[in-house]
Amino acid sequence: MTLNGKTAIITGSNSGIGLGIAWELARAGADVVLNSFSDTPEDHALAAEISQATGTTARYIQADMSNAEACRALIGKAGRCDILVNNAGIQHVAPIDSFPTEKWDAIIAINLTSAFHTTAAALPKMRAAGWGRVVNIASAHGLTASPYKSAYIAAKHGIVGLSKTTALETAEEPITCNAICPGYVLTPLVEAQIPDTMEKYGMGREEVIKKVMLDRQPSKAFATVGQLGGTTVFLCSDAAAQITGTTISVDGGWTAL
Ligand code: NAD
Repeated sequence: MTLNGKTAIITGSNSGIGLGIAWELARAGADVVLNSFSDTPEDHALAAEISQATGTTARYIQADMSNAEACRALIGKAGRCDILVNNAGIQHVAPIDSFPTEKWDAIIAINLTSAFHTTAAALPKMRAAGWGRVVNIASAHGLTASPYKSAYIAAKHGIVGLSKTTALETAEEPITCNAICPGYVLTPLVEAQIPDTMEKYGMGREEVIKKVMLDRQPSKAFATVGQLGGTTVFLCSDAAAQITGTTISVDGGWTAL
C-alpha cells in the first residue's frame, strides 16, 4: 500500500515504538514528523536516516507533550497532518498510597491529555484534506490492570475512551480513530522497569522477564516495534476504512486470558 502524499506526525518517536512506527509509515510512503521533548543532533539524525533510507521527507520537531500549547504547536508547525499517532508515554511504578503526585500529573499529561490537544489541533487539518487517521497507542493496560501502575492504567483506559469519542465525532467523515493495545515490547520504557521489578520481587533479570513481564503474555515473546508499525500502517489502509472506535491488541494473547 502507498501512503505517498500523506504526512504522519508521531509523538514521542525518538525511540522505541514511536520510532518503529515512523519507520514503517515512511516505508509505506508517508512523510513523517518525529518528535520528543529533546532537541539534539541525534534526534535530527534519526529523521535524516529515515529520509535517506526511504526517499520520503522525514523531519524532527521538538515539542514537550506535557505542555498543552506545545502539543498544539507541534501540529501547527508540521503543516499537513493526515496521520496522527499519539504515542508519547512515560511510566512510574509505585503503590497508590505512596505514588508521587508529580508523577501522577506527568503521566496523565503526557500519556493522555497530550492526545486530546494534538487531536483537537489535527482534526480541522484532516477535515480540510478530506482524509485522516488517528492512531492512539494505548496498552494491554488500557483494557486490564496490574498493581502499582495506577496513573499509567488510568491514562491508558482514558485514551481508549478518547479514541471511541473521537471515532464517534468523525464517524460520518473519511477519518478514523482507533487505539492499539500492545502487550510487552522490549523498548527503553520497559527496560527501565526491570531494575525496580527485580528489587520488588527479589528476582534476577531473566526471571523478571519470563515470570513477571511475560507471565501474562501467553506467547512468552515480546511484541516488536516493527509489528506495531505494521499494525499502524494497516489502520491507515483502505481495508481499515470502516475500522473505527475500537482497540486492536498486539499482545501475544494477554487479553484472551
Ligand atoms: P520509550 O521510552 O522508548 O518511548 C517513549 C517516547 O516518548 C520517547 O520517544 C520519549 O522521548 C517520548 N516522551 C517522553 N516524554 C515526552 C514528552 N514530555 N514529550 C514528548 N515526548 C516524550 O517507550 P515505548 O515503550 O516505545 O513507549 C511508547 C508508547 O507505547 C507509550 O505510550 C507506552 O505507554 C506504550 N506502550 C509500550 C509498551 C511496551 O511494552 N514497551 C506496551 C504497551 C504500551
